[in-house]
Amino acid sequence: MWKKIRIAILLAILLIVAVNAWRDQNQNWTRPIVVLLHPINADGTAETQAYINQLQASQFGQVSSYLRQSAQQYQQNTHFLMLLGRPLHELPPAVPTVGGIWQSIWWSLKFRYYAWQQQQSADPTATVVLYLNYYSPKTRQRLLHSTALERGRIGSVNVFSDTQQNAQNEVVIAHELLHAFGATDKYDLSTGQPIYPNGYAEPHLQPLLPQHMAELMAGYIPMTPQQSKMPQNLEQTKIGAVTAKEIGWTK
Ligand SMILES: [Zn+2]
Repeated sequence: MWKKIRIAILLAILLIVAVNAWRDQNQNWTRPIVVLLHPINADGTAETQAYINQLQASQFGQVSSYLRQSAQQYQQNTHFLMLLGRPLHELPPAVPTVGGIWQSIWWSLKFRYYAWQQQQSADPTATVVLYLNYYSPKTRQRLLHSTALERGRIGSVNVFSDTQQNAQNEVVIAHELLHAFGATDKYDLSTGQPIYPNGYAEPHLQPLLPQHMAELMAGYIPMTPQQSKMPQNLEQTKIGAVTAKEIGWTK
C-alpha cells in the first residue's frame, strides 16, 4: 500500500516537474536570491554535531559577498541572502556514482521527493535549498561529489565539519549553487583536470600554466597539463564568461 502511494507521489512530482520545467530556467537576477541551507550530521559523530551547533548564517557571508561581487563584474546588481535552516536528520538520497540516464532521472525524482518531504510550512521561502551533508575529516578523507538540480533548485552538498575547512566548504557551496542556476562543470570528468579554455580563470595568461586561480565551475587551479590543485578559498576562484552566460548574467 505504502509503496503504491510512494510511486503515485513520485509520478505526481514528475508531472509537476514537467509542467514547471520552463519556469525554473530563467532566473530574474534583479530580485534577491534567497539560499536556504539545511545542515545535516551525515556521519552521526559528536564532533560533527558540535560543529553544526556552532553554525551561524553569518559564516556563509563570504559566499554571498563573493557572488554579489562576481555578478557586478557582469553588470548584475544582485543580492544573495544566505539563511541557515533547521538541521535535518535524514540524508538526501545518495547520488548514483555509476549508471546511465535512467538512474539519474530516478535519483532526481527521489531527491525532489526528499526535498518535498523535508519541507515545513514554517521554513522561509527560498530561491534555492541546499542540503549540507557534514562529515568530519576524521571519518572521511575525501568527500563524494556533490550535486544540484537546476530544475528544482535543490542541491546535495558534501562538506567538512571542521572550521579549518570553512573556506574550502564555501568554494563547494558556491560551485553547487551555480549548478542550481544552470552552470555546467568545466573539468574533464575522467581526469578532473580543468578544460581549456572555459575551465580556466585566466585563459589568456602568458605563459598559460601555472594558473593562479580556479574557474569556479572547473573547481581546480591548473598547474601543469596533468596536475591541478584545489583553491584554498573563494578569493582564489573566478566565475568565467561561459559560466556567467549559462546562468544568465550575460546574453
Ligand atoms: Zn559540479
